[in-house]
Amino acid sequence: MTRLVMKFGGTSMADLERIRRAARLVAAEADAGHQVAVVVSAMAGKTNELVAWTDGAGAPTGQVNAGDDEYDVVVASGEQVTAGLLAMTLRNMGYKARSMTGWQVPIITSEAHGKARIVDIPSDNLDKAFDDGYIVVVPGFQGVTPQGKITTLGRGGSDTSAVAVAIAAKAVRCDIYTDVDGVYTTDPRVESKAKRLKKIAFEEMLEMASLGAKVLQTRSVELAMGHRMPIRVLSSFVEPGENVDNGTIVCDEDEIVEKHIVSGVAFSRDEAKITLLGLPNKIGVSAAVFAKLAAANINVDMIVQSEKRSGDYANQLFTVSRRDAKAAADIMLGAKDEIGFDDIKVDDNVAKVSIVGVGMRSHTGVAQTMFTALSEKGINIQVISTSEIKISVLIDEAYTELAVRALHAAYGLDQIGA
Ligand code: ADP
Ligand code: ASP
Ligand code: MG
Repeated sequence: MTRLVMKFGGTSMADLERIRRAARLVAAEADAGHQVAVVVSAMAGKTNELVAWTDGAGAPTGQVNAGDDEYDVVVASGEQVTAGLLAMTLRNMGYKARSMTGWQVPIITSEAHGKARIVDIPSDNLDKAFDDGYIVVVPGFQGVTPQGKITTLGRGGSDTSAVAVAIAAKAVRCDIYTDVDGVYTTDPRVESKAKRLKKIAFEEMLEMASLGAKVLQTRSVELAMGHRMPIRVLSSFVEPGENVDNGTIVCDEDEIVEKHIVSGVAFSRDEAKITLLGLPNKIGVSAAVFAKLAAANINVDMIVQSEKRSGDYANQLFTVSRRDAKAAADIMLGAKDEIGFDDIKVDDNVAKVSIVGVGMRSHTGVAQTMFTALSEKGINIQVISTSEIKISVLIDEAYTELAVRALHAAYGLDQIGA
């Protein structure tokens, strides 16, 4: 018997009616002869509500203090509710089903509360449940440390739970059911002309996710890519049988026949730009700046340094996520004399817009098309960063949607056939 993992996100678990629809999709796969493990998210909006409660009780929203283990006890609870409800629904339909929490599976994670990483999933308990004929329902997002403390995997983490369970269970595939019917050339909520991709390479999906396309959590793609676990993204708003030839397969590049130079446009508003003015242009200054940020666990994304026209001074600019902007600025101000800069500016009215595609490796002129398209819309580029398969620009946040649509058209993405 082949094994299959099916994951349902928050909107797919939003109420009992949707849970019943998910149960029908699960039942159809079980009827088709699969041993099924289902991974579920909390009902839509539930995790935000739980996070807000922890805020009131002490932990600042979005800034989980390392070691704030009670935050995880609270926010992990949303997934437990939906797992139990789905297992009950399946039972009422006549199927043998049971829930298995993160600590019962167990999904062993690191101790980084609020952003834990899965380190191991021993498969004995899952195997036993499958052998006993159960459909197993696992609450996503949650795990347990080797010391037995509850952890969570970071927002959107149920995708990662699903891929990890698929790997542990040696499933043939991990199906991610969500509120869109696949991965699109850009967020269909921003560009209605966005087209569904039949297939997307792991590497492209990894870039798309890390550059802001929240359809899959970045870590889930990284994990799937490392283990060659195929992911299929598809709609949960259908009845069994209606998903034929639907969805998007995330797979190896070699399996994709119809290749595009640029496969997608991603954007992120979770950006803040910090500029250090009049930084001494001497050896060791950048090391001093970034060592301080690293010590505070602040992730830096784009970095640009430019020399002043005269004198031995430079300006340096870097970006961090918005929630880290204040902490980063405070750290820099605290070290102003030691580092020796004149002034600091913080701007969080910025957004990052990126194009992604493996075809960039072998085609020239890709960047020029991007810069021309943006300039034609009067959009100023503040920072540029590139890698082998992506180009990102930082722009004024007010132009985000305009930029996404302009780039989508410039690379002919509204023309491609799904
Ligand atoms: P779930 O609750 O099922 O995990 P998410 O809200 O996390 O769902 O992810 C699905 C959403 O991702 C879609 O509703 C869509 O707005 C957004 N999204 C962003 N970029 C893309 C993209 N390129 N393709 C499809 N969806 C995207
Ligand atoms: N419920 C969690 C969140 O909202 C995890 C998930 O849905 O993937 O972030
Ligand atoms: Mg999600």
